[in-house]
Amino acid sequence: MDGAGTLLPNILIVEDEPALVELLTYNLEKAGFRTAVARDGEEAMLAVAEAKPDLVLLDWMLPYVSGIEICRRLRRDPETRDLPVILLTARGEEGDRIRGLESGADDYVVKPFSPSELIARVRAVMRRTRPAFDKDTLTYSDIVMDLASHRVSRGDQIIELGPTEFRLLRFLLERPGRVFDREQLLDHVWGQDADIEPRTVDVHIRRLRKAMNLPGTPDLIRTVRSAGYALELDPAN
Ligand code: CA
Repeated sequence: MDGAGTLLPNILIVEDEPALVELLTYNLEKAGFRTAVARDGEEAMLAVAEAKPDLVLLDWMLPYVSGIEICRRLRRDPETRDLPVILLTARGEEGDRIRGLESGADDYVVKPFSPSELIARVRAVMRRTRPAFDKDTLTYSDIVMDLASHRVSRGDQIIELGPTEFRLLRFLLERPGRVFDREQLLDHVWGQDADIEPRTVDVHIRRLRKAMNLPGTPDLIRTVRSAGYALELDPAN
């Protein structure tokens, strides 16, 4: 039991540089991950033995034992052989890249990197290595909904939703592009026995839009005049 799908994915950050640890922790948590930190190889091995993470972000240049060597040790141990590892490094030479991947890392990110690039790489490695993570996750455009933890993010921002807006978004995420009228949404999201005015749907759509549409991002909910609503990226955006 490694926790994938029952909790937010947990990322172990192995890095000795405090400013980078802070940057990584902040951005990963904002994107809906839990984090733990180890400052050298020994701490990393202890942290992995104590609570196996869902992914390790491993700096190459560490005191005492290099990231490459830690990666090799993780790959030798049957317990951690399949643990996803992304190497972080200031090196960008082709030979180093090959050495990094030969040590068994799943991916390789060269410093300096943008937080959104790193998070995209983390998600890509997790999708590839952890199908369970994918199954419990609904995505459309830059929206990610984690069904197990009930968390929603857009890009690298966590979105706070009320329970009705969460159900409404989930219903739409499962059927992107399809138009639903108010009665259909009432039946599916509130239940057929609910004694609610169809106009209530508009109120919750408005709240959902307000929560999801961050400054500078396109509106993902299309209003179809006299027909209803659809989750759809407006091509005009
Ligand atoms: Ca370092």
